[in-house]
Amino acid sequence: MERINLTKYIIITGGVVSSIGKGITSASMGRILRSYGLKVSAIKIDPYLNWDSGTLNPYQHGEVFVTHDGMETDLDLGHYERFLDVELDGIANITTGKVYESVIAKEREGGYLGECVQVIPHITNRIKEMIRANSESADYDVVLVELGGTVGDIESQPFLEALRQLRNEEGRDNVMFVHVTFIPYLNAAGEFKTKPTQHSTKELRSVGINPDVIVCRSQEHIDDALLAKVAHFCDVDVNAVVNTPDAGTIYEVPLVLEDKNIGEFIVKRIGLDVEADSSKLDEWRGVVDSIKNAESEVTIGIVGKYVELEDSYISIRESLLHAAASIGVKAKIKYLSSDVEKLDEDALKEFDGILIPGGFGERGFEGKLDAVDYAIENDVPLFGICLGMQSIVTQFARRNGYPEANSSEFGDDIVDPVIDMMEEQKKIKNMGGTMRLGSYDCKIIEGTKTFEAYGEIDIEERHRHRYEFNNDYRDDLQEKGLIISGTSPDDFLVEIVEVPNHPWAIGCQFHPEFKSRPNRPHPLFKAFLEAIYEYSKN
Ligand code: GLN
Repeated sequence: MERINLTKYIIITGGVVSSIGKGITSASMGRILRSYGLKVSAIKIDPYLNWDSGTLNPYQHGEVFVTHDGMETDLDLGHYERFLDVELDGIANITTGKVYESVIAKEREGGYLGECVQVIPHITNRIKEMIRANSESADYDVVLVELGGTVGDIESQPFLEALRQLRNEEGRDNVMFVHVTFIPYLNAAGEFKTKPTQHSTKELRSVGINPDVIVCRSQEHIDDALLAKVAHFCDVDVNAVVNTPDAGTIYEVPLVLEDKNIGEFIVKRIGLDVEADSSKLDEWRGVVDSIKNAESEVTIGIVGKYVELEDSYISIRESLLHAAASIGVKAKIKYLSSDVEKLDEDALKEFDGILIPGGFGERGFEGKLDAVDYAIENDVPLFGICLGMQSIVTQFARRNGYPEANSSEFGDDIVDPVIDMMEEQKKIKNMGGTMRLGSYDCKIIEGTKTFEAYGEIDIEERHRHRYEFNNDYRDDLQEKGLIISGTSPDDFLVEIVEVPNHPWAIGCQFHPEFKSRPNRPHPLFKAFLEAIYEYSKN
């Protein structure tokens, strides 16, 4: 079959267990190739039936990452954007739900008249089309395709088959497979065990896919003899079995892989016309050094209700780390549950800065208001994001003449709904993909702390919410001192607020955490960290 285009593909599968960092591994390989000067993109395939991750529970799946074009996606897209320093389109997240929905819609339109519509070829063809749509969206040299879950999952089967076909159609020289597995250490036996990796590789081979590279994740360093054993049993080049033990920071993983010459291996294997020059990662090395070597430390409290699973706030955590590193401090991040009767003041006292993240539903909201109140009273730097901004507005209103202020998200009979639903949202019945989503323009008001942070008037930020600042209260709250430092370009929607007479207390309706990069921290996070550092000196 004819080649479709010149894009090369690196397909990443997982074996043995989930949560071993396939996303970081994929993003790291992408970072290496991007540093060599290649144009790289990445796709995440999630084999679950949900159409997108917008309706998934953050306790189980972690954060919902929002792309610039408003797709609610898997958090791995956040890793890709941060490591590759790109903005991905929503089509970079493929789910079983999206695949089947489009095939069924086509069948209803009569697109397959007379045919019996089947997994092979109709579903597999559609999967390949969706992958290629990504490569064609911009002339990419390399597209990484990460298949979620582990090999052997029933839901993954059509995807593995499609990926195998993709290799045949694009040509073996243009497609390679990387299998990421886990090598457990058995205390009782005093040794690492490679058998689960052998089995998962066998499983992969049973669907016609031989991995070119095996990345062995482990808690501790594994020696070369054992890796050679994996190479032997799994029929993979000895140079292509690499160990990535748990790293101090995820940003180190590209360097670990580069040290093992994986970049060079990939370049040769799929014939990329570029020099595998390790010095090209020097800028990245610099970023990793600044993350690792910062001297002074500040403690930042994230006060929210999804604190049991740190992945729920992963982009926020990373943004704090980027910003801290950029000003030479280390951010120690602590998570405090807001889902309590009364927030523990002693716990709050530990924090040099308080961040209230986004969230949904009433549970834990009063705890967030307690944290806001504490930060306002004690001049502690405060950053509210989305529901966090709504918390700041609500608490400011309660302190200034509206003791019953609340968001209408939390009841139909709110006396003073300082946060309310927009008219167009009220008509919407479906829950999936119907919020105010994706990038919107915002105008910053000069003379504010927000302007000091951004240094420009016209910005663009990503949203994911249904409720907004209620303009009925705008004039009065402003009269009472609330600073409105950012609005929609037509001045209608309040996007950013500042608490007056406070060193740094800012809330934004959007999610700045989606745009922070390790080498380019987000201006609001950077300004927040600077305020925190100042506060920590007192
Ligand atoms: N629940 C709030 C809303 O829908 C905030 C959403 C969020 O924090 N992402 O407006």
